Amino acid sequence: MLISKNSEKTPYDIAIVGAGVAGMTAAIYALRAKKSVLIFEETVPGGQIINTSKIENYPGIPEISGSDFAKTLKSQVASFGGKFYFSTVEKIKKIKTPSEFPALFSLKTSEDEEFFAKTIIISSGSRERKLDLPGEDRLSGRGISYCATCDGSFFKNKTVAVYGGGNTALYSALYLSNLAKTVYLIIRRNVFRAEPSLVRRAEEKENIKFIKNRVISALAGEKSLSSVVLSASNGSSAPEETLPLDGLFISIGRIPDNQRFKDFISLDDEGYISSDESCKTSVPGVFCAGDARKKPLHQLVTATSDGATAATAAIDFLNSF
Ligand SMILES: Cc1cc2nc3c(=O)[nH]c(=O)nc-3n(C[C@H](O)[C@H](O)[C@H](O)COP(=O)(O)OP(=O)(O)OC[C@H]3O[C@@H](n4cnc5c(N)ncnc54)[C@H](O)[C@@H]3O)c2cc1C
Repeated sequence: MLISKNSEKTPYDIAIVGAGVAGMTAAIYALRAKKSVLIFEETVPGGQIINTSKIENYPGIPEISGSDFAKTLKSQVASFGGKFYFSTVEKIKKIKTPSEFPALFSLKTSEDEEFFAKTIIISSGSRERKLDLPGEDRLSGRGISYCATCDGSFFKNKTVAVYGGGNTALYSALYLSNLAKTVYLIIRRNVFRAEPSLVRRAEEKENIKFIKNRVISALAGEKSLSSVVLSASNGSSAPEETLPLDGLFISIGRIPDNQRFKDFISLDDEGYISSDESCKTSVPGVFCAGDARKKPLHQLVTATSDGATAATAAIDFLNSF
């Protein structure tokens, strides 16, 4: 169910910031406990998992695509009466503590609309880490991409590169090798962080070419990306070289998407929200879940686990007054 803009001023029991896997799981738990819930989402429900073509490590589901996983979850939320509001939450403020509520928060959206909630679950996840090189934003969508499964089909029979050495980079290279003519896999060290089985699969592909001990130090192209400059790294003394490319897939990790809330809630040095085992944050009445949260493993199972835990903690908080 969608709600019309600016239509509801009465406070929700729980406002959820971000309809990724963590946020939507929290919604299911809260709705089943008969709490009123509003879920804010700045793009589409599902979050980062919609960027993957195959999930094979979610218990009970041997294999599913990321978009099907997200669609099923969204339908499950909707089946319990979940309401989505499509806008970015820009600011959260504690406005007062009236006697009838444990707390009351205001959430301001990018369209300058204001909503109210008695508790908040922040499940804003993470976004791609950028190279921060001149031209990156201008060429993004014009040869530069952060998602092979989303944009790979634009590069059929072309020459592309993947930059990064983790699992996502390896999955991207393998995916692109079925579409592109040549896939360069550029890493700044000479060993991969990715699982050895993925590296082996990439090594077996004839059209994946490894470029080790290099960093991308410049991007070139007018209307679209035309080449990148590779510089030596990791102690190598190789000379700088230009690599002509039609596409570049940047896969150098993700950063938590919490900066908007840094004045409201405690973040650690890396920008993750600090919380305890029950997903309570530094602000009473505010909980967090998923990749936005500091924890050792950022995966679907931990996102769903956090969503359930945060919602249960929010419900307990509401019921304790
Ligand atoms: C390519 C790829 C493949 C992966 N494959 C697997 C896999 O096979 N198995 C596995 O277990 N894990 C996998 N993962 C990791 C997994 O996807 C994440 O750990 C999980 O999806 C995190 O969910 P989340 O809800 O915490 O965050 P996210 O998925 O990041 O969702 C956060 C949501 O919040 C929204 N949002 C952010 N800020 C705001 C705001 N201010 N206002 C409103 N909305 C906001 C975002 O638009 C987003 O929809 C993969 C990740 C990637 C990138």
